[in-house]
Amino acid sequence: MSVLIAGSTALDSIKTPKAENPRLLGGSASHAAVAASFFSPVKLVGVVGDDFPKKYLKLYRRHKIDLEGLQILPGKTFHWSGEYEVNMNNRRTLLTELGVFETFTPTLPKSYQQSSFVLLANIAPALQHHVLNQMQRPKFVVADTMDLWLNIALKDLLKLLPRLDGFVLNDSEAHQLTKEDNVFSALRKIHKLGPRYVIIKKGSHGSILSGPKGFFICPAYPLNKVVDPTGAGDSFVGGMMGCLATARGSIDQNIRRAMVYGSVVASFCCEGFGLTCTTRAKRSQIERRVKELEKLTTF
Ligand code: AMP
Repeated sequence: MSVLIAGSTALDSIKTPKAENPRLLGGSASHAAVAASFFSPVKLVGVVGDDFPKKYLKLYRRHKIDLEGLQILPGKTFHWSGEYEVNMNNRRTLLTELGVFETFTPTLPKSYQQSSFVLLANIAPALQHHVLNQMQRPKFVVADTMDLWLNIALKDLLKLLPRLDGFVLNDSEAHQLTKEDNVFSALRKIHKLGPRYVIIKKGSHGSILSGPKGFFICPAYPLNKVVDPTGAGDSFVGGMMGCLATARGSIDQNIRRAMVYGSVVASFCCEGFGLTCTTRAKRSQIERRVKELEKLTTF
């Protein structure tokens, strides 16, 4: 089964203490789609301007990502710029230019509307609603978000939560949403807002799932060096959804393993700027890291 992924398709300009890289392929949907493509077919919903480099379209195609739902409109591609501090955990947004995203209200191709697995990657909650409204009978719908939407579109986000099966957010966003310092209390409060599966991401400390079968602590792959963590969260959730879409059995039977695969794809993402290392990863390398994580967490 394929995964429909809607979100931002962007050009990212990223600054770290060691280097600066302008106009890389980025966006929540780009990272998630490439990550999911290791495991299942992907249908991408997004928009880019006529300044979008052809080599990035080729990269999507190399990953066999269905681009029928990617619009190319006259104007500028969404451009985001961020700067990391020395510890590579704290990030400051320097610039967000919406460009063609400002007025984007996509009509999904017919072939997309039947998708069973839907990932509403980070984008305005109103747009996440708009995409979900067009889906016919999705089996498993997951959304991601960011602090910006908690600040400026909380009402829309709160209306989206009861429509979701799963919700993924990072620890600072969970705190912002629930005002809880304790992650387990935050998880409990977020369930009350709707989703049955809630995942709180904790960067290099992994993530925690709370679902119908209880908690699961998912490790992050231990990296010696992080080059650029942009998109790691999107890669994590994209990889997880790709795995779930092809796995046999129920969500409960598969979600823990799917999270571990997502975590491994995210580790490749962190090893290079933008999508450089994610796109170079081989399935055999992914399997090797999954085995290593298995060893590291068995007792
Ligand atoms: P992450 O590192 O997982 O938080 O994701 C970073 C990605 O989110 C970058 O590739 C950005 O292009 C994208 N992004 C940044 N700001 C926004 C926004 N306001 N809406 C949608 N995507 C965004």
